[in-house]
Amino acid sequence: MKVLQKIADVKQIINHLKQNQTKIAFVPTMGALHQGHLELLKIARNYSDFVVLSIYVNPTQFGKNEDFDKYPRNLDQDISKIQHQNISIDLIFAPTNQDIYPFPESQTPILTFPFLSQKLCGISRPTHFDGVGLVVLKLLNIVQPDYLIMGQKDFQQTVIIQRLIDEFFLDTKLITVPTVREKDGLALSSRNIYLNNDERNQALILFRSLSEIKNHLRVGISDNEIQKILNLHKDLINQTPNLKVDYLEVLNAKDLQPVKQIEKGMKIVIAIAVFVGKTRLIDNFVLEF
Ligand code: AMP
Repeated sequence: MKVLQKIADVKQIINHLKQNQTKIAFVPTMGALHQGHLELLKIARNYSDFVVLSIYVNPTQFGKNEDFDKYPRNLDQDISKIQHQNISIDLIFAPTNQDIYPFPESQTPILTFPFLSQKLCGISRPTHFDGVGLVVLKLLNIVQPDYLIMGQKDFQQTVIIQRLIDEFFLDTKLITVPTVREKDGLALSSRNIYLNNDERNQALILFRSLSEIKNHLRVGISDNEIQKILNLHKDLINQTPNLKVDYLEVLNAKDLQPVKQIEKGMKIVIAIAVFVGKTRLIDNFVLEF
């Protein structure tokens, strides 16, 4: 397993692999690896002969008052976790900001998908997906993977990246991996470490709400009825001290547009974000009818 920082070094290896028609799978992360990330790496191996993991905390996807500075960074610990579990990967790409953004910040281009990004997480994080789209495009151009492996946990991200792939005719297939959870249902997240014990218990509200809402959804149910169910759950959560709903929505899973009525064959997403104290957690269920 090689650990490389420089783009030129990575490209040299990738070019060689391409010449030999070796299939490449790529897992982009911000590090602070947990079992969810490791699951993506295992799945990546099923798809390819060469697995690339990137570890890079991308500044352009953080808002001004977000946790960019305090986001956990520990490359050595991440490497230990991979080795400890015998996860088989070939290359870790860990660039610096200077490598990824060689031009001054004021000259950074903006890549935006407002149709998909100005909703759900994009309401409270208006520039987040612009940064995600930009860095993923850069990373895809460097790694040129046959398979891009991402988690369903960040569902809106997968929809936007699929659009990026389609819009720019990229030769990569997006594989979305189901969310890895703790035994009690809490979705694994690098931000869970910000929670104290009480908050850790309170955080279960996301999974519980999704599970209950799921039981009420069926073919034929109208937007009006869905909104009533969602409002009930929003009120319940907001009445709990220390919890505040950021969003709770049912949307079409293909394009994140509103659902007028659930019809047979439709794929929908129930998406939730809740502030547990100061920590904002997200989760979702995707259902096919
Ligand atoms: P991050 O490091 O948070 O940017 O996440 C890197 C990748 O891991 C993204 O594709 C996430 O969707 C994915 N991921 C994060 N948490 C989980 C989880 N609990 N289960 C599966 N994938 C996850």
